[in-house]
Amino acid sequence: MMKSSSKLLKSTFTLLSLITLAGTITPIVATPTTIQAKKAKKKHYITAKNKHQFKFGYAYVYNKKKHCYIGHKMSKKERQQFNMPKEQKIQKAKSNYDVPKISNFTDNILDKYNLKGDRWANIKITYNDNDLSTEQQNIVEQAIKQINQLNIITINKTTKTKANITFRLSNKENKNNVIGDTVINDEGQIYKGLITASTATITLYSKGLNKYTNDDYKLKLNDVTLHELGHALGLGHNDQNKHEIMQPISDTKSIEKIDSTHVAIDQDYIKGLAILYQN
Ligand SMILES: [Zn+2]
Repeated sequence: MMKSSSKLLKSTFTLLSLITLAGTITPIVATPTTIQAKKAKKKHYITAKNKHQFKFGYAYVYNKKKHCYIGHKMSKKERQQFNMPKEQKIQKAKSNYDVPKISNFTDNILDKYNLKGDRWANIKITYNDNDLSTEQQNIVEQAIKQINQLNIITINKTTKTKANITFRLSNKENKNNVIGDTVINDEGQIYKGLITASTATITLYSKGLNKYTNDDYKLKLNDVTLHELGHALGLGHNDQNKHEIMQPISDTKSIEKIDSTHVAIDQDYIKGLAILYQN
């Protein structure tokens, strides 16, 4: 199974730096110094000590003297220039898992709960798996049902191409017996230090999968689907526990199972999702 979190983290940081860059490119106010312009200028400037405090729709420049980022609200023109999407309302899950209230997802919090630093704005998201075989679709559907039964977020199937999560099948030869990987595109809306996701693509590799047969195949695909969906929803790798779904290297044998074709969703997985979506 694939470690895609380094790739995912990279995309996260690219976005943050893009926001910073936007500020660099756009010099701070070049309008004539009329009283009105000054007033407007004052109103729209904010500061941030670190990137976790960045607000959506603002472009930031680091100010060495003041040791902080100075942000200004991007104009409509700037937003178009940098292709910024419209701000989405963040939905919170109404589930009752006992997880801490997080006001800001700092690096420490992300590390502690093995989170990547992103989540979906909505708690209802869609997936498209048109590219998969009927048998694979059934297995994926069952894995998604396991996630939906946690009552944190709901993932619904769609046949529209504009799904949040898209599954695709690859016949490509891959290194290290990779069976799945996930790539997320972030939108750049920042919420409590998290970045919102816009689309995710989960690739399943036939060559890796086809080494398994019968129940082993179903079990493997169930495990891989839960692992990659974990990434797509915001979970990173869990290096500490080798018996959990989000361990970096797939070892389905050591994971707790419900039956011969389904792994059991572990507590760290549930906790991660609850922390991300209840906050
Ligand atoms: Zn992984």
